[in-house]
Amino acid sequence: MTKQKAEIGVIGGSGLYSLLSDGKAIDVETKYGKPSDSITIGELAGRMVAFLPRHGSKHTIPPHKVPYRANIDAMSQLGVERIISTSAVGSLRANLMPGDFVFPDQFINFSHGREDTFFDGEPEPVTHVSTAEPYCDEMRQIAVAAGDTTNVKYHNTGTVIVVSGPRFSTKAESRFFRSIGGDIVNMTQYPEIALAKERGMCFLGITVITDYDSGVDENRSIEPVTLDVVNARMSANVGKTRALITEIIKTLPEKRSCSCKDSLVNAAVSVK
Ligand SMILES: [Zn+2]
Repeated sequence: MTKQKAEIGVIGGSGLYSLLSDGKAIDVETKYGKPSDSITIGELAGRMVAFLPRHGSKHTIPPHKVPYRANIDAMSQLGVERIISTSAVGSLRANLMPGDFVFPDQFINFSHGREDTFFDGEPEPVTHVSTAEPYCDEMRQIAVAAGDTTNVKYHNTGTVIVVSGPRFSTKAESRFFRSIGGDIVNMTQYPEIALAKERGMCFLGITVITDYDSGVDENRSIEPVTLDVVNARMSANVGKTRALITEIIKTLPEKRSCSCKDSLVNAAVSVK
């Protein structure tokens, strides 16, 4: 059987459970277990795309139980070189408003207990990959241009704080995250991005602000987030998210001119 191939992988977060209208669903096995769900492969804007809903198509997998290694390994088995990852985020800044999109350029990880590397000791070599620039700059620039074309309100940079969840932050945590330079909060961006880096993949985060986390100090009238708020905001934005993804895929150059594919060069420890 010929294995299906795709060049771009889309991992759908809360609200985005399907993408390809006439795709073919396949089950991919990995040595890290099963991915979150079947992966749908099909054409979008003339390119072969693999789509995977991060929490499963019925949203049954919580953020701390997502099989991150299996998801990224499955994508790399399919030949995917670039990942577009969508997710819901809370805002830590008054000017980052619900409904806005943010294309992050940095993360700070506060999640814990997750299997966050493919290089887990023998037979794998000890490997230290740089995450100084975790997001693909080339893809982020293309996302910014797509944001203009599709007329969505977006922010072209941002630092995402990643927490384990599944609970939302306390007010003190929100204040702390803001004080250390966080702009938005999310539960899934890590280790997805670090694992993609270990496979030399490009990674673009498309995040949608659904709420103000536990409120922002500048405006005491803002209520802390609830799940109802997140769901309503995600549903309202799913059309825009699809339009953005389609435009990005349409305009992505076929060949990568970024340095993402070189992430493993000189990264393995070798004692002579
Ligand atoms: Zn790249």
